[in-house]
Amino acid sequence: MGEKQSNLMDKIVSLCRRRGFIFQSSEIYGGLDSCYDYGPLGVELKRNIKEAWWRSMVREREDIVGLDAAILMHPKVWEASGHVEGFTDPLVDCKQCKRRFRADEVEGKRCPVCGGELTEARQFNLMFKTFMGPVEDEASIVYLRPETAQGIYVNFLNVLNSTRLKIPFGIAQIGKAFRNEITPRNFIFRTREFEQMEMQFFVKPGTDQEWFEYWREKRMQWYIDLGIRPQKLRFHKHGEDELAHYAAAAYDIQYEFPFGWRELEGIHNRTDFDLSRHMQYSGKDQRYFDDATRERYIPYIIETSAGADRTVLTVLADAYDEEEVEGEIRIVMHFHPKVAPIKVGVFPLVKRDGMPEVARKIEQSLRRYWMVFYDESGAIGRRYRRQDEIGTPYCVTVDSQTLQDQTVTVRDRDSMQQERVPMDRLVEYFRERLD
Ligand code: ATP
Repeated sequence: MGEKQSNLMDKIVSLCRRRGFIFQSSEIYGGLDSCYDYGPLGVELKRNIKEAWWRSMVREREDIVGLDAAILMHPKVWEASGHVEGFTDPLVDCKQCKRRFRADEVEGKRCPVCGGELTEARQFNLMFKTFMGPVEDEASIVYLRPETAQGIYVNFLNVLNSTRLKIPFGIAQIGKAFRNEITPRNFIFRTREFEQMEMQFFVKPGTDQEWFEYWREKRMQWYIDLGIRPQKLRFHKHGEDELAHYAAAAYDIQYEFPFGWRELEGIHNRTDFDLSRHMQYSGKDQRYFDDATRERYIPYIIETSAGADRTVLTVLADAYDEEEVEGEIRIVMHFHPKVAPIKVGVFPLVKRDGMPEVARKIEQSLRRYWMVFYDESGAIGRRYRRQDEIGTPYCVTVDSQTLQDQTVTVRDRDSMQQERVPMDRLVEYFRERLD
């Protein structure tokens, strides 16, 4: 990683902490490694991202429905899915200092920390285990789900039978997943508890390649519509050696993070692997009956699997900017209005002459539609800078002219240009620019 880029990560982490986007988990106890908490602005940002995803995947389509499955599932699910057997990383231990490393990350036979001898590689399962009920024995083991997808597969028939959907159709879900990653790193890029936004699209075998192409393009466009710079996004096609056991074809959407090009989302043609396995392990017929052709078949599944936290990091990294304005550094987050935690800042120029009262009125009228922030303390320039730093697209200021002609200034975050807008046209003005 270049110095400038590692610097950029440090700046993002520091801004996130300073302004209340993201904190280390359990910080007063020294922090819990690789776990993070979203603060007041972070939670808005993440919600906006999840909502944009939900809207484009569920609300704006008639062929995809939502689901919210439990995190704890029957342990057999993870046998059928292949996770009990195959969701592993090869690990080596240092015989001297007892540290543990991913086998593919240590070169040679000596510990990178103390130089000690390493054991042979052993497989380490990444699923978190816990116990259900009062007895802690083998029979009561359950897992925290390592992906949300299985909750969708085991509900395939429930959804099919309770709706009037016909193939092709999809089921979408947003929820937490857990993986006991050996080397979590890069802030919220790889953590042990994270949130996924997954959609499983059930199609007739033979049409799968076509749908795969469709979803690949659709998902790439979603990031562009979120305001991510297209030159920072690319596809990575999985070669034969990278393909997961279930996949016939797979593409990652990658983003160029400060630490390099990394996966943001996976789009997979999972064939009929998952439903066949669940049919085999549960003994329940998972076939779809096509009443037009009178055919019965196990649908193929095209999966789009994105990380909500990784998307948050992408949006943060892509939005961060510093520029020199009048001899000072202006930090500005160029968030797309769709994801910005706060849409409008409302300020009285000074704290007298009736300006706060007018500004409060404006704040109240805008708050019905958008997340707004009222601030009356300190110099106006500083108030603008504070909003720039958290990516607020617009600021409204009430000044002495307002009291005469009922207009306010609206300042644009990116251009820093100001224009006068009649107070009673503000809702309309922002509706054109924010929604
Ligand atoms: P990686 O190779 O980075 O471990 P993966 O190929 O195992 O990821 P998938 O199983 O395809 O990832 O998961 C789909 C998406 O879930 C990823 O693209 C990513 O956005 C997100 N994701 C997976 N693991 C993590 C994690 N440990 N922390 C945060 N997000 C994750």
